[in-house]
Amino acid sequence: MTGNNVRLRAIQDVEAYVPPAVSFDPGEEPGKIFGENVFSLSAMQKRLPKAVYKSVLNTIEKSAPLDSDVADAVASAMKDWALEKGATHYAHVFYPLTGLTAEKHDSFLDPVGDGTAFASFSGKTLIQGEPDASSFPNGGLRNTFEARGYTGWDVMSPAYVLENPNGNTLCIPTIFISMTGEALDHKTPVLRSQQAMAVHAERVLKLFGHENSEHVVSYLGPEQEYFLIDRHFFLSRPDLINAGRTLFGAKPPKGQEFDDHYFGAIPERVLAFMMDTERELFKLGIPAKTRHNEVAPGQFEIAPMFERANVGSDHQQLLMTTFKSVAKKHGMECLFHEKPFEGVNGSGKHVNFSLGNSELGSLLVPGDNPHDNAQFLVFCGAVIRSVDLYGGLLRASVASASNDHRLGANEAPPAIISIFLGDQLADVFDQIAKGGATHSKEKGTLTIGVDTLPNLTKDPGDRNRTSPFAFTGNRFEFRAPGSGQTVAGPMVMLNTIMAEALDYCATELEKSVEDGTDFNEAVQTLLTEIISNHGKVIFNGNGYSDEWPIEAEQRGLKNLRTTVDALPELITPEAIELFSKYSVFNDREMHSRYEIGLEQYVLSISVEANLTHEIGTTTILPAAVRYQTELATNVSALKSAGVEADTSTLEAVTGPLTALRAGLAELAEAIGHDHDPDGLTAATYCRDAVLPAMASVRAAADELEALVADDLWSLPTYQEMLYIL
Ligand code: ADP
Ligand code: MG
Repeated sequence: MTGNNVRLRAIQDVEAYVPPAVSFDPGEEPGKIFGENVFSLSAMQKRLPKAVYKSVLNTIEKSAPLDSDVADAVASAMKDWALEKGATHYAHVFYPLTGLTAEKHDSFLDPVGDGTAFASFSGKTLIQGEPDASSFPNGGLRNTFEARGYTGWDVMSPAYVLENPNGNTLCIPTIFISMTGEALDHKTPVLRSQQAMAVHAERVLKLFGHENSEHVVSYLGPEQEYFLIDRHFFLSRPDLINAGRTLFGAKPPKGQEFDDHYFGAIPERVLAFMMDTERELFKLGIPAKTRHNEVAPGQFEIAPMFERANVGSDHQQLLMTTFKSVAKKHGMECLFHEKPFEGVNGSGKHVNFSLGNSELGSLLVPGDNPHDNAQFLVFCGAVIRSVDLYGGLLRASVASASNDHRLGANEAPPAIISIFLGDQLADVFDQIAKGGATHSKEKGTLTIGVDTLPNLTKDPGDRNRTSPFAFTGNRFEFRAPGSGQTVAGPMVMLNTIMAEALDYCATELEKSVEDGTDFNEAVQTLLTEIISNHGKVIFNGNGYSDEWPIEAEQRGLKNLRTTVDALPELITPEAIELFSKYSVFNDREMHSRYEIGLEQYVLSISVEANLTHEIGTTTILPAAVRYQTELATNVSALKSAGVEADTSTLEAVTGPLTALRAGLAELAEAIGHDHDPDGLTAATYCRDAVLPAMASVRAAADELEALVADDLWSLPTYQEMLYIL
């Protein structure tokens, strides 16, 4: 009997769930569908005149401008290709500062005078669109009278056809800027920062004898963690629907401490979902590679192969939308929130970062001769310098209300940004620090240009999972980004701070060379300087230990625990100077991002606070009151029958019920407070007054969950959501 209890009904529905019919064709070769829906280079080569194709290639590889004749030819070929794929519409896809994906759809068909329609799509419509920008956050960059924003095709990121049972759409990845050319999106700065980083990386390469190497790009390999829960449960939890996380829920009796889920067998239903998503991703040219269970029950991970940062970050967004829609098809909901379940491991999105090109590979790989090693060490040195100088900016790039539940909240990784080099590489830099002073090889010192590095094998046992920024053999892994965030933000930071560090290295080395200093000696001096001044950012110990924050403070490293602490990093004079020097953001753009970050923080906490109040009042309080009444009725009935009544259960329920009422009153007052017009003040208020009030309501409610009769409790429990799949 489930009565009106949505939770009990959900459990019944989950049990009755029938998986969708198998659509898998065992004869299908995965290689065949890969990129099937992408207007890729090979598709272009087949359909474009040679000269036009060459010109597009030039734009992609050398960032040469695309002229209008070429654009027209590409547009026409793209349209024919898309129509053959069943597309009826085209959309400029862009990434506004909400962190979500936005699309503006238009039909290919233009009505012609005689009442018929004609499929048209010109170079101009391919290259530029004009969506109304007024509904997207702009942080003061746009006045309402100039509400238009412009989208422009990122030629380097290929167009693709997105399938839908009711018709397909040609999607064109674009940037999104204001009338005055200021960035309103996450993509524009990725491209700008990429370019800045490349210029200085190429200067360094030139010093190492790579005169005409290909353009350097940054590579991104994202590892996406997520939760899957049955949709019946999801739909019975207004907090999950509206806030993406559970605002209530007692810890399950069986927690993740059993560790039986990590790398365990993937449940069949989940496997079916994974196969299906990977198929969809393959068609879109997204190289999905590894998949496995994660630490928490119901938690999984997918890691596509690394790609050029701008393409990789577009693909990352596309991956998230694909996951959401395929999960629904399998009767599940995919949760990308950083902390959907309190007390259960949260989800991150590790950003594996390197720089290089197809000719030289990753520049963060140690070589097998002294010359290549010296080059590797300079690039590594640049990373060390940049993370030490601008760790606060890296922290700010992953700041959000939801990610605060991971960073700075006793969970992976800590809010203190430090670098893990591994024992071997740390030792190498130690030797450089010692040896550099004398320029001679003493015992335990290393001389650049003479010694080969010890073999830095990627030893899986040597992986420090508690570090927010770890060297992993051929790249650095930035572990602080949240599972729901766009990877573009961290990529912009990494590219820009690396541009500065490489600029610094190139300038120092060029000066020494001009002065006639021996090149190897110049490199040695540079590295010694870097490691002496910035070595404090290297930490190979346990980032979760209680001692680390204390030691980090002594070292002068920042511990920006919350978004409110982190976002002001974006508008320090140093940050503004850095970003304008490398033409990634001007002063106004930096301020706009700061304002939007605060706005989003206030918005998401306000939504959560309202939901907490509503669910507390309309769902939890009534359940507890009914149960209390039932117990009280029982006590008085027993009393009047002359039987001795045990009142302990009644008292046990009355305690947290009283606390719940008090918490709700406190929360109502906090919510009633008008937001200060100053973003930082409003955000600080949310953190210091609203979040604690929410926590008191939750504490009382979670206590009640363990006391109130099961048939009166209508929110699916952690136990049910995490273990029934
Ligand atoms: P792990 O779980 O051991 O950290 P995964 O295999 O889950 O590793 O993910 C590693 C990610 O790093 C993948 O996306 C992979 O493509 C990416 N990666 C590998 N080499 C590089 C590189 N040179 N630059 C950037 N990303 C890389
Ligand atoms: Mg992994």
